[in-house]
Amino acid sequence: MATYDEWKVFKWYCPNCGELITGHKNTDGEVKGICRRCYSKTFRILRSSNHITIEVYGPKQQACGSEYEDSF
Ligand SMILES: [Zn+2]
Repeated sequence: MATYDEWKVFKWYCPNCGELITGHKNTDGEVKGICRRCYSKTFRILRSSNHITIEVYGPKQQACGSEYEDSF
């Protein structure tokens, strides 16, 4: 069995803005990618062969409540 599959490139679209994201799978089975357009961090976690969890962390400047700080 070759282990080169660990370096396979994954591509998916940003759930936040739709930009194409490329990422690499690490040894924990997670695929991490950062959106070039909105800088959201996306994690694709391979739970099993038919279960993938996608976690999205938005950029800090778009965090909830930021508009209140701007009004001061
Ligand atoms: Zn994006």
